[in-house]
Amino acid sequence: MPIYEYEARDPASGCTLCKHPFERIQRLSDPPLTRCPQCDKDVIRLISAPAVGASKSSFNDRAKKAGFHQLKKVGKGEYEKTF
Ligand SMILES: [Zn+2]
Repeated sequence: MPIYEYEARDPASGCTLCKHPFERIQRLSDPPLTRCPQCDKDVIRLISAPAVGASKSSFNDRAKKAGFHQLKKVGKGEYEKTF
């Protein structure tokens, strides 16, 4: 059976289980997990290798290091450049 990796959508507010990536063994026919089984917060499925980094904070860190401007969410689907 395939093993899927999940992490809280907002790891900073996750519980001891979902603030770090955790693994679930699921059947292919099982629906993907959308909530943490422990604290019921939204979780996202990580795409294969941890290096892909689905977590927003590490993405922002890497974007900053790469010299990109950090984007601040100002509304639904709208982003504003912060300097
Ligand atoms: Zn949790």
